[in-house]
Amino acid sequence: MSEPRLIDPFARAITYLRVSVTDRCDFRCVYCMAENMEFLPKAELLTLEELDRLCTAFVALGVEKLRITGGEPLVRKGIMTFFRAMSRHLATGALKELTLTTNGSQLRRFAGELRDCGVRRVNVSLDTLDATKFRAVTRWGRFAQVMDGIDAAVEAGLKVKINAVALKGVNDDEIHDMVAWCGARGHDLTFIEVMPMGDIGGEDRLDQYYSLKELRRDLEARWTLTDTPERTGGPARYVRVGETGGRIGFITPLTHNFCESCNRVRLTCTGQLYMCLGQEDDADLRAPLRAHPGDDAPLVEAIRRAIERKPRGHDFDYSRRTVEGQVSRHMSHTGG
Ligand code: SAM
Ligand code: SF4
Repeated sequence: MSEPRLIDPFARAITYLRVSVTDRCDFRCVYCMAENMEFLPKAELLTLEELDRLCTAFVALGVEKLRITGGEPLVRKGIMTFFRAMSRHLATGALKELTLTTNGSQLRRFAGELRDCGVRRVNVSLDTLDATKFRAVTRWGRFAQVMDGIDAAVEAGLKVKINAVALKGVNDDEIHDMVAWCGARGHDLTFIEVMPMGDIGGEDRLDQYYSLKELRRDLEARWTLTDTPERTGGPARYVRVGETGGRIGFITPLTHNFCESCNRVRLTCTGQLYMCLGQEDDADLRAPLRAHPGDDAPLVEAIRRAIERKPRGHDFDYSRRTVEGQVSRHMSHTGG
């Protein structure tokens, strides 16, 4: 590493960058987007070369894990060029992990190439095993295509983790089926609490909210869950399922404070760096990037100034039955 590492004001080393490579998506999940989303003009987006420069700067500053997300990362034109470019940092050992979060729709097409680029694990978002409900949740998604995509990932040798947003009245009656299905197939499973991000057009988040405390209690009626000490620097806690040997994660940004060990920052597809998912403060990295095409020093300086502003934690709170701490941007913009 050529530069001193990124350490924030609370002595947390920043080693994990999540990068949204597009705000576009082939689905319109009800908790994530309004059906008639307006997307950014293409000129606003970082080019693949700009994404490369930015990520490379972060890797030089000690980032060891890159997660590519969106929107749907695999619908960004030419995205494999970017994965291929990032694989050079795996080859040098500077980057320890290159991974992505995807809705799975394009995995049949890209799983093999992702594996060739050094990707070993993918997170696939799947909230239900019922094709009709899947259609209702994603609005535009096709269940069979996602199932086939997951099969393609497994065939290519990728480890698949399933991410499910816990939704009252949608998948609360399916949690046991999902644990059994993931256990039988060897997929880790993570439940995520729905977060108050972005205008989603008429949907009520408090109606959707199914606390993971309640979900865990419901699971324990059928499964033997044992806490494991694993932490990833993120908001997940893990348990082992006695009956399947599988692992379940719970991401509870709303009911637990996980911020003290936060090691991550998020880059939007337009080059804004968010030091915290739950705060509005951001730093524009696109301006120094574009103003100095041949010189990364101003960019590195902007990254360092931004990390100095990383807050202690977030302010999400549903406890007063109003959506406190809501942030106006969409998850698809910042990257989930
Ligand atoms: N399109 C890809 C996908 O769906 O996996 C990557 C981007 S998506 C924004 C990343 C993750 O954020 C998904 O697992 C999705 O379920 C989750 N997500 C989106 N909106 C959310 C919200 N309001 N609350 C909690 N999770 C959300
Ligand atoms: Fe698209 Fe992912 Fe958002 Fe669903 S959660 S609309 S798949 S970006």
